Amino acid sequence: MAESTMQKIVSLAKRRGFIFQSSEIYGGLKACYDYGPLGVELKRNVKDAWWRDMVHRRSDIVGLDCSIIMHPNVWRASGHLAGFSDPLVDCRNCKERFRADKAPRAVPGAALTYREGGRKDGKKLEGVVPDRGYVCPVCGAGDLSDERQFNLMFRTSLGPVDPMQEILNNMDELHRLQGNERKQKLADIIGASAVYLRPETAQGMFVNFMNVLNSGRMKPPFGIAQVGKSYRNEITTSNLTFRTCEFEQMEMEFFVEPGTDDEWYAYWSRERFAWYTSLGMRPERLRLREHEQKELAHYAKACVDVEYFYPFENPEGEGEWGELEGIANRTDYDLKKHSEHSGKDLSYFETETKKRFTPYVIEPAAGADRATLAFLCDAYDEEVVDKEKNDVRTVLRFHPRLAPVKVGVFPLVKKEGMPDRARAIMDELLGEGINSFYDESGAIGRRYRRMDEVGTPWCVTVDTETLEQGTVTVRERDSMAQSRVPAAGIGDYFRNRLKSS
Ligand code: ATP
Repeated sequence: MAESTMQKIVSLAKRRGFIFQSSEIYGGLKACYDYGPLGVELKRNVKDAWWRDMVHRRSDIVGLDCSIIMHPNVWRASGHLAGFSDPLVDCRNCKERFRADKAPRAVPGAALTYREGGRKDGKKLEGVVPDRGYVCPVCGAGDLSDERQFNLMFRTSLGPVDPMQEILNNMDELHRLQGNERKQKLADIIGASAVYLRPETAQGMFVNFMNVLNSGRMKPPFGIAQVGKSYRNEITTSNLTFRTCEFEQMEMEFFVEPGTDDEWYAYWSRERFAWYTSLGMRPERLRLREHEQKELAHYAKACVDVEYFYPFENPEGEGEWGELEGIANRTDYDLKKHSEHSGKDLSYFETETKKRFTPYVIEPAAGADRATLAFLCDAYDEEVVDKEKNDVRTVLRFHPRLAPVKVGVFPLVKKEGMPDRARAIMDELLGEGINSFYDESGAIGRRYRRMDEVGTPWCVTVDTETLEQGTVTVRERDSMAQSRVPAAGIGDYFRNRLKSS
């Protein structure tokens, strides 16, 4: 069977050092990935582009870097302890555990056929779609357990107290207690040292609102941005780095005066969509999807997702819209909740107008890993160079700002001093902060193709004319066109090309 686009991308990602399975030599760990030498550059470029466009290019947004473990009351106030959960269901037929809200929808009462145990050779069984209107995503059966809520936060303990030891120390009392009292005692023992890995970076911005306001002399409308790791004990993980338990977010909380929030919500929805296209993402593979009322979190006034059409495989074929980023109007919910729980006033007093208000928050929340995956998928192309010769090249058409390697530097042949000239050029480029790669092995055409496959926008070749006239060949990745450029000032040449790209 022919390989799907996604299979080709996964295999290229591994072969060329973009993404590896974590702990692979031990059989891997489900949904955990490592970024290889090229992947780490790509992801850094995505995060740097975000930081540059969201923080450095604006005077109304500042950055923050908060700790991953925060006071547990942060999660009490934000509602994550009580409500950050997914509806979990077990399939009684194939034993798969899945998220009810992500399961395939079906008409209640409609007839179903599926295989016993979910095995291809299992007996053919018949059933009906249950009233709740979905079936098992793996075997298609409707014989499902009740939904139960599963908290997505990873719990750990802080300090020298081992909760397991404390449980053992309290065994006699636990035995004496019954039902809810026993549960409460256990919760108290574990709760005494429990802390959580943050499931989002956003709360760091809310609890530091006053610190930033006072230390930075900011006033609404202004934003606080953060890039960092978040953790969610996801039940269903899939499609490489799309949904994992450890991931990086790029979030910004924009604090505005109530009444101006609709305008800012529309502004950030437009800005964030445009950010992806400004980095070369194909607009036809992007869309904004406004949430319906029933999808909204209880505190949100509105929410829109920027979605990308990923080449994921699914029963209908190839391709599926998936969330890249959500832009939400979170109202004054978070600041008010933290005021209530901490006892600290988090309202803002505007001296000019003598008005006091709790700002509304517009939050563009993006995922660095999902964006990196989308840029990788979007860049992937197979171009027929010569149909008759069956010459097809694989090329990653990254925007130059995102390309892991900007310039490939080659000597045409390994003699006449060409390698030394080429290495000197590479050193000059590296010295300018332009990531470059030296390659002298194999035919020049093969070397160009190897660079195409990892998305390097330009190659420089040192040849006899370089030695005689001081010029080099510059070869373009996308058009494959070649031109001659003076070797002197090559750093400035590529800096300008990057700037104007
Ligand atoms: P989903 O509906 O896909 O679970 P979400 O709406 O819960 O996502 P948010 O809480 O809005 O996601 O988080 C903001 C961004 O963080 C998402 O748009 C996504 O890019 C990223 N993100 C969230 N969960 C994950 C995950 N498990 N793995 C990778 N990225 C994630």
